[in-house]
Amino acid sequence: MSTVFSKIISGEIQSHKIAENENCLSFLDINPLAEGHALVIPKKETDNIFDMTDDDLSGLILFAKKVAKAIKSSIPCAKVGVSVIGLEVAHAHIHLIPIDTVSDMNFSKDKLSPSNTELEQTANKIKRLI
Ligand code: AMP
Repeated sequence: MSTVFSKIISGEIQSHKIAENENCLSFLDINPLAEGHALVIPKKETDNIFDMTDDDLSGLILFAKKVAKAIKSSIPCAKVGVSVIGLEVAHAHIHLIPIDTVSDMNFSKDKLSPSNTELEQTANKIKRLI
């Protein structure tokens, strides 16, 4: 099965990329909980994150660390919250979310719908610090 995230990796679907290496990709969530809400994914399609090999999972976390630091330095926030859900897209991914309170991590609240221009501006702010 080809997930929407595999289509982002192949370029079939457009995304606002933040960072990329041989095995991992990060791009902005299209319906973020907050400005700067990013996703970090392995290029190898796997549904459950804990089915990844130890090496692949370690690489993904270390890649996420770089992205999280760039988010923290570019988007005003107290912390960068980390979450793994995966109920909507069956391709392992880590959510990185700029937060000020614990309720900012509430995935049940209304999501934002930024324009392409807004997403591009946010991606540019973050990626120049990677
Ligand atoms: P979940 O699988 O529950 O962790 O949620 C999947 C996340 O992927 C949601 O926050 C969506 O807004 C996000 N998402 C779905 N499609 C896209 C897309 N084409 N580009 C960026 N983010 C997406």
